[in-house]
Amino acid sequence: MTPAQRQLTDSVREKLGPKAVITDAAAIAPWLEDWRGRYHGAAPAILAPDSRDGVAMILSLAQEARVPLVPQGGNTGMVGGATPPVDGSALILSLRRMNRIRSVDPVNGLAIAEAGVILADLHTAALEQGRRFPLTLGARGSATIGGLASTNAGGTQVLRFGTMRSLVAGVEAVLPDGSVHDGLAALKKDNRGYDLNQLLIGAEGTLGVITAATLRLVPAIAARAVAWVGLSGPEVALALLRRLEAGTDRIESFEIVPGHTLSLVLQHVPGTRAPLAGEHPWHVLIEAVITDPADEPPADLLERLLAPALADGQVADAVIAASEAQAEAFWHIRDSISEAERNNGPAVQHDISVPVSGMPRFMIEGGAACEARFPGTEAMAFGHLGDGNVHFHIRAPRGVDAARWYAEDAPVITRFVNDLVVAAGGSISAEHGIGQMKLKELERLSSPARMAALRAIKAAFDPGALMNPGKLVALAPEPLAP
Ligand code: FAD
Repeated sequence: MTPAQRQLTDSVREKLGPKAVITDAAAIAPWLEDWRGRYHGAAPAILAPDSRDGVAMILSLAQEARVPLVPQGGNTGMVGGATPPVDGSALILSLRRMNRIRSVDPVNGLAIAEAGVILADLHTAALEQGRRFPLTLGARGSATIGGLASTNAGGTQVLRFGTMRSLVAGVEAVLPDGSVHDGLAALKKDNRGYDLNQLLIGAEGTLGVITAATLRLVPAIAARAVAWVGLSGPEVALALLRRLEAGTDRIESFEIVPGHTLSLVLQHVPGTRAPLAGEHPWHVLIEAVITDPADEPPADLLERLLAPALADGQVADAVIAASEAQAEAFWHIRDSISEAERNNGPAVQHDISVPVSGMPRFMIEGGAACEARFPGTEAMAFGHLGDGNVHFHIRAPRGVDAARWYAEDAPVITRFVNDLVVAAGGSISAEHGIGQMKLKELERLSSPARMAALRAIKAAFDPGALMNPGKLVALAPEPLAP
């Protein structure tokens, strides 16, 4: 620990008590690596305040001592954003002890949750009041409200409700100098210039620390139906989505899964079973939801809408979950793709978006272009087709040395994929953020106007570059890889 770090940790311990400082190496270790195990950092201590004022005190002390901080929630992020730098220069600022749900207001449809509240706990609290927080994702048992807001997370219900940007109605945050921004009031109209709340959403902890958020709730689900459909390809899948949308506004999720990705899940995730009897090149998982019990039951709705698609051959086969347990089993397949893939050997991941209408072509032609350019690799695109966002993963050739492949080949593949995305008018980060993983690619592929604005914003909030250093944007351009 450097003298400055020791001065900071001693002051925090003295002012906030022993629970606010963790220095035991074994307790720190799990938080030094990202969920995928791709990034490894070092930090001699974790600071863990349990209140907004505690966060404010830590940030002003860190400013005085010039010690960088890495905000961390559930550590489920996909771009190494919550992993500290390798040189041990920063301390982790964990928000996990700030886990109170301050209020659930079913009448106004709003909840105020502190940054460390776990998404699944918010789901439960809203449900107890007959409401629902309509954002969910595979990491809901660990991801926190602060992390979700700071990455502008998406998930599987974006089709109907949007990303965190649409669902956060207010933000409370501590800025790098220790001052507090109280933007929790959920104002429908507020034109006081730049929107600080929206700047902090998706800022990945580089502009300050979110301590609480006001979140929009919707009526609880009265009934849902989940269908699993086999079909010939992404173009047909998108046409099916448009057909369903013409018949109802109750479709909440529409997730595409290639046949070989389903096989991977069946192979690597115990207890999973194929939903359909036959084999299909592509699959979609569809969820329809009603909130008024008097409405047409969603299973009937899906059956009514899918029947003509089956009859005219648009869809090869389909099954509607017969029970809630079966619906959960279908979702478990979708939610287990990342885990299955992690167990299947080295792969390089790209979370990308292109205009929705261009996505089917991108999935097929982009995948084929990668496999042709990098022999032995296998492209795998799955996810949120209806949002124009898929996870576009390239699996390493069998038998490669993983460390060498990640160090040498993966960056070349990523540049190739990102160039395809930019050529298709898309974004190299649809929902996971930039973190440390995409910082250089963001610089390489962004316009000078975008980069200058990002740097100016960062410099205005955090001139000392103490908040989550090495993530999202560097104050000076990063040297490009050769
Ligand atoms: P962390 O990983 O701890 O942090 C993420 C970033 O936010 C870091 O930059 C960190 O510094 C910053 N941060 C954390 N808390 C704060 C705070 N209070 N104030 C300021 N900055 C903060 N993401 C999607 O968008 N869609 C998906 O469908 C999806 N599916 C996933 C499935 C699985 C199985 C897993 C493991 C992850 C998935 N993710 C998905 C990614 C991940 O869950 C999200 O990025 C989530 O928002 C991260 O929350 P967290 O609390 O774990 O944040």
